[in-house]
Amino acid sequence: MKRQILRRRISTISFFLFPATFVYFSPYVIVDASAKGIICGSFFMFILLFIGALFFGRAFCSWACGLGAAQEILSPLKKNFAIKGRIIKWLIWIPWITTIIILAIRHEGYHEINPIYRTNHGFSLGSIYTAIAYMCVLFVLLIAQFMVGKRSYCRHICWIAPFMILGRKLQNLLKTPSLKLVKTDSPCINCKKCTKNCLMGLDVENMINTNKMENTECILCGTCADVCNKECIKLKFQ
Ligand code: SF4
Ligand code: SF4
Ligand code: SF4
Repeated sequence: MKRQILRRRISTISFFLFPATFVYFSPYVIVDASAKGIICGSFFMFILLFIGALFFGRAFCSWACGLGAAQEILSPLKKNFAIKGRIIKWLIWIPWITTIIILAIRHEGYHEINPIYRTNHGFSLGSIYTAIAYMCVLFVLLIAQFMVGKRSYCRHICWIAPFMILGRKLQNLLKTPSLKLVKTDSPCINCKKCTKNCLMGLDVENMINTNKMENTECILCGTCADVCNKECIKLKFQ
């Protein structure tokens, strides 16, 4: 479980850094910047996450996302509960990304690069408005966790996840080397420990039994591999 201790420590640091970084993940700032023809920090961030997903899938979600870490900290609220569903985040993402593209076209493209746009010298929490926005995000996250179960924000709402899902789908198409879950030759005893402990509420036991280890909702945390006493699952780069 050393890997999980390390992962939790790194993601907890990202949670405490989130007041400094959250503008770089903001869905609003990129819309506002695009309307003025500015390439802002979150523009770079979303492209980086898309490219990163070609090699590391959604590992960012389990290792480095402050919002993901916040949900793990809140996870005792609804530990073994997860309402399934993937559609809502696409219903949020598609109109949002369309708006960004339309605004950029109306402004005849981008004319300026400003990675620290809408930050206070690079630091996100710079005014009472950004503090309110930050508290609102945490409040939505808390409610979602309570109503819909573990990592509900990631599974149902997050506008960042689709960039990584699309990156992962492209990786699957190109079959380039990447971090993935692999089924070993060790026989599964159907104890369901992996399913019970999956951070994203996935039916890992079924993934093992059907030998379908690829799932774009998997955030490659490795928890299932680490709790399986029979060592049926490995997380590796191949
Ligand atoms: S799905 Fe979104 S909120 Fe959840 S960990 Fe990934 S980037 Fe963060
Ligand atoms: S924890 Fe291991 S043995 Fe148990 S169901 Fe999962 S893969 Fe099978
Ligand atoms: S399937 Fe395993 S690696 Fe993927 S999210 Fe669930 S516990 Fe983590």
